[in-house]
Amino acid sequence: MTLSEDDKKKIADWIEEKIGKPRCTMCGTGQWTLLDVSTLPIGFDVHSTRFYFHRGIPQVTIVCNYCGHMEFFNTAVMGFKPDEPEKEIIPDNKETE
Ligand SMILES: [Zn+2]
Repeated sequence: MTLSEDDKKKIADWIEEKIGKPRCTMCGTGQWTLLDVSTLPIGFDVHSTRFYFHRGIPQVTIVCNYCGHMEFFNTAVMGFKPDEPEKEIIPDNKETE
């Protein structure tokens, strides 16, 4: 899902509030880019090797501008909640008159 400008501001404010100015754990620099999409790594059972598309972890990603190291943040912890699903419209089986 593409993040809106409001989403990106919310994420940047959340990171600033919780972490301040994060330093890259690989190279030590502090310049990041917030990717403009949220992602969902899917569930995977290491025993059966089955994928579980409905068991993913919603996240956003920041990328170190110098070395490309990426950090991920859980969007649910950030306060993003799924919208209510639209109600399915079930067609009336009666024939129109
Ligand atoms: Zn880095």
